[in-house]
Amino acid sequence: MKGKLLLIGFGPGSFEHITHRARQAIEESDVIIGYNTYVDLIRPLLTGQEIVRTGMTEEVSRAVEAVKQAELGKKVAVISSGDAGVYGMAGLVYEVLIEKGWTAAEGVEVETIPGISAINSCASLLGAPVMHDACTISLSDHLTPWSTIIGRVEAAARADFVIALYNPRSGRRTRQIVETQRMLLRYRSPQTPVGLVKSAYRERQEVVLTTLAEMLEHEIGMLTTVIIGNSATFVYDGLMITPRGYQRKYTLHSAEQSLKPHERLRKEAEPWALEQDEGQPAGWGEAWPTGRGEMQPAGKGAAHLMGCGDAYRIRQGEAQLLEGDDTHSAERSATRPASTSPLELAEEALFKLVYSRGQPAPNLLAAEALAPAGRPVADASGRPAWTPPMQAGAQELIFEVAVSPGVANKKMSPAQLLTLAQIAGEQGELEYTPHHYMILRVPTGDPSGVTERLVAEGFRVQAVGDVVTVKACDFCNGEKTEAIPYAEELHRKLAGAKMPKELHIAVNGCGMACYRASHEDIGIIYRKGKFDLFLGAKTTGSNAHTAQRVAEGIEPERIVETIESIVRQYRERGHPNERFFKFFKRVKNVEGFEHKEVPVAVADAAVCGD
Ligand code: SF4
Repeated sequence: MKGKLLLIGFGPGSFEHITHRARQAIEESDVIIGYNTYVDLIRPLLTGQEIVRTGMTEEVSRAVEAVKQAELGKKVAVISSGDAGVYGMAGLVYEVLIEKGWTAAEGVEVETIPGISAINSCASLLGAPVMHDACTISLSDHLTPWSTIIGRVEAAARADFVIALYNPRSGRRTRQIVETQRMLLRYRSPQTPVGLVKSAYRERQEVVLTTLAEMLEHEIGMLTTVIIGNSATFVYDGLMITPRGYQRKYTLHSAEQSLKPHERLRKEAEPWALEQDEGQPAGWGEAWPTGRGEMQPAGKGAAHLMGCGDAYRIRQGEAQLLEGDDTHSAERSATRPASTSPLELAEEALFKLVYSRGQPAPNLLAAEALAPAGRPVADASGRPAWTPPMQAGAQELIFEVAVSPGVANKKMSPAQLLTLAQIAGEQGELEYTPHHYMILRVPTGDPSGVTERLVAEGFRVQAVGDVVTVKACDFCNGEKTEAIPYAEELHRKLAGAKMPKELHIAVNGCGMACYRASHEDIGIIYRKGKFDLFLGAKTTGSNAHTAQRVAEGIEPERIVETIESIVRQYRERGHPNERFFKFFKRVKNVEGFEHKEVPVAVADAAVCGD
């Protein structure tokens, strides 16, 4: 009579989480073979079966014994915690069988009974951290060369996988988790959420939510599973959540959706999809998955905060636009302290950068070791209060920031020009842009020092990239003053706020509109004591057009909140890389302002461009 091998995964260890089929299989078996601890865990389910139990590193003898017993005609349960096919006994038993020339047709019967693996059980205790692409990596190098393991860690980190680390540390294997953290910090923010779960669903269960920078300050042992979030993972109310991307297409705080069910799978609703982007590598348009991420994945527009390139920018911020906007604000504040100024952003950027370069202790202790005597390294909330200098041998970085003398003020003093020239030096550069600011690019290890100096000289500085810019006319050299306060307030509230794509707002002080507010994404023109509003200019290409005048006579006290609402809608509902005019055309109505189709002009073939 042929025997049978039952390769059973009994899950995390609590009886509620053992599957019905696993219980049945244990009951119907003649022999139970397992590691001592596992046999003890399922002992209440045993009904007199013969027990073969061994210690650690005895897996091969257990597998050989199991095959031998099955060949004698017995039903043999080989038990593993979690899932038998995930670092369990299933693969080994098959290997032993194959060595003996086993075939499914002629050999003993084999049934594999799935169980809940640690990545799932631990994730359920942490919230929903494995909602997106994830992988498991065992840090045990008893059977796998360490070079292979760390190579997989690096690949997973680079590819922005959520990572579940199994076997992170044991009594003798203590360096592996340290090396792993160091590698991850080269690709991920130190603030990346990390969950540590020990003995999930067992008596001594412990759950710790921490960060990548601080994970080693907590106990990690044989029974711990470490779950590392991806660049979009955030913490909310003690839970670790990895968004899948629904917010790209849906309004999550409303039952009403802008896209009807039949529209949701259309190409135009998925501008990031492969078919939309055939000329570019896969993933090209995937930057900034949620607005919560700490960095952009490598690819177009990557900010290179993490030392993967030769330049970085002040990170695109979330300026005061979101004040009073409670949508997702709890999520943001729970993730990290909001960075509201370029100075803070620059400090944060360099802090991350330094710790991405394999510093020995990626926490504030390392900063302490580097800081000048007497200077604090962190404020009360743990944010870096001092920016460490670049380390010897580190790659020099380009600091990039937008600089202007003011919103209405277009004049730079000789002292300001001198300061700019001194900061740029021989190696830096200044680029004059059509947006009423200059971009300063300068190699430096001290971006906060550069920013401080610019601010002290009276410059306005702000992030560059896919953010809001607010520009204005010069209000006839400051003579037509009525609209200036509104331009200033818009700048204060919106400039630098992160957007799906760069968004330009322009304010002109009279109906002459000589600074062409109607040629921007959003333009407002002060006329007869009120504002006219223009939306959705397309400034380039053969089908370029001015913005549509969507309203006249908006009361001054309403203009700022109106623009804020429009910008907020674009931020929340715009697709990544979708320009404002396209967004306006797609959604057709923003804040009650209707889009009208622009007549298509017949154009001659252009000499260059489109
Ligand atoms: S738009 Fe009007 S207020 Fe502004 S600079 Fe031109 S003329 Fe002066």
